[in-house]
Amino acid sequence: MTERLTLPGFVNAHSHTFQRALRGRAGGGDFWAWRDEMLLEADRQSPDSVRSDYAVWYREMRSAGYTAVGEFHYLGLAEALAAVEAAAEAGIDLVVLLAAYGRGGLPRFRQDSADAFLGQVDTLRASGARVGLAPHSVRACPADWLEAIGTYAVAEGLPLHVHADEQPREIEECVAEHGVRPIELLARTGCLGPATTVVHATHADGHELDLLADVGARVCLCPTTEADLGDGYAPVEALLARGIPICIGSDSNVRIDPLEELRELEGIARRASGRRNVIPVETLLSFGAAEGAAALGLDRWPDVSVALEHPSLAGVARSDVPSALVSGCSGDVLTG
Ligand SMILES: [Zn+2]
Repeated sequence: MTERLTLPGFVNAHSHTFQRALRGRAGGGDFWAWRDEMLLEADRQSPDSVRSDYAVWYREMRSAGYTAVGEFHYLGLAEALAAVEAAAEAGIDLVVLLAAYGRGGLPRFRQDSADAFLGQVDTLRASGARVGLAPHSVRACPADWLEAIGTYAVAEGLPLHVHADEQPREIEECVAEHGVRPIELLARTGCLGPATTVVHATHADGHELDLLADVGARVCLCPTTEADLGDGYAPVEALLARGIPICIGSDSNVRIDPLEELRELEGIARRASGRRNVIPVETLLSFGAAEGAAALGLDRWPDVSVALEHPSLAGVARSDVPSALVSGCSGDVLTG
């Protein structure tokens, strides 16, 4: 008989699933050159392509042990509804983090006003989809949009996800426009609270991290993507020191493997500190599961099983399996 160990399913709290199409394409010399290629890919998307391709890629997530995903979506409302269908087909729980985009990017990303964006949110919620609010970034959303979206999120009790501090240039532009750094602007505009998840925070300074800790906000780290894009090192130890909850995301989907994301987090902390076992294994696994669910506002999500007969667990004592998952296994050891 096949022996199994059941764990809470892993939760992918940040995915732009269409970017899976870019896997293997080098995409230029820095983040901004990669972004140009990403925009070309985004512009190729249609409701039909999202419905068919996302089903394939959600199945890839499912087979890697993710049982729920937060789709940070900026391709348009019809495509959001198509993503909902694709997730249902693939058997993964989905929260659509609908992006507000006031300026920059492509025309298809943008709404005419914050009210128009919130109207899209209402339409999506009325369809029965699980929805969170995602002001894309301080780059894409003017301050008055952030104020309107923050107010709506609090009034409706919805999760709010926002990219911040991924690249130094974004911080420089924010300081030039607003006189404060991105997370400081989020605090000033009412976008920072216990239901807020800041994605990346790679270059956040101590004051910005203090603001997150003060309100009980969390941070979503996407280390395989952050490595691929040359973003920098996630501030793992600074987050831990402040007790800021951490969750994980596959983001650009250059790699889809929750165990690798968690291994990267611990690896970053070990390289930086010269110590081992910086994050207890149980805590790391909770970053991969319960913290992601909390970030998406999910109370329940499916479990996964560990295939104890998998070759990567040969010779591993049962009591050492959780640690071995994080240190030595890939997501293919996890099954629905
Ligand atoms: Zn992202």
